[in-house]
Amino acid sequence: MEPCLFCKIEQGEIPSEQVYQDEDVIVFKDIAPKAKVHLLVVPRKHVSGLNDLLPEDQQLIGKMMLLLPELAKQQGLDDGFRTIINTGSGGGQEVFHLHIHLLGGNALPFV
Ligand code: AMP
Ligand code: ZN
Repeated sequence: MEPCLFCKIEQGEIPSEQVYQDEDVIVFKDIAPKAKVHLLVVPRKHVSGLNDLLPEDQQLIGKMMLLLPELAKQQGLDDGFRTIINTGSGGGQEVFHLHIHLLGGNALPFV
């Protein structure tokens, strides 16, 4: 089966503007930014979305959550930031490899 887009980015087959990486997680700039800062926090392991997380992924998702304020600080988002996880087509998910959007740096619409 053809690897998904974010697996290809994780493998370096498709270029991305990475801002952080470790053994579990990669973070790169969204190709079509919806805010001044728009990063995608992506596990190296392929998980299709929130509905496919397993109990054994608890540490991984916890690590991703804890990384968010660190990244926001690195990006100078001192007055706050927004995180979004789209789940399934009904939730607006387009890439079926779990990712957390991290947005900020300008006024964001109320949701
Ligand atoms: P979602 O709708 O939550 O699945 O978000 C997918 C995101 O991936 C969108 O914001 C896209 O702009 C972004 N995206 C798609 N292709 C790439 C790419 N090659 N590099 C970086 N971001 C991408
Ligand atoms: Zn994948």
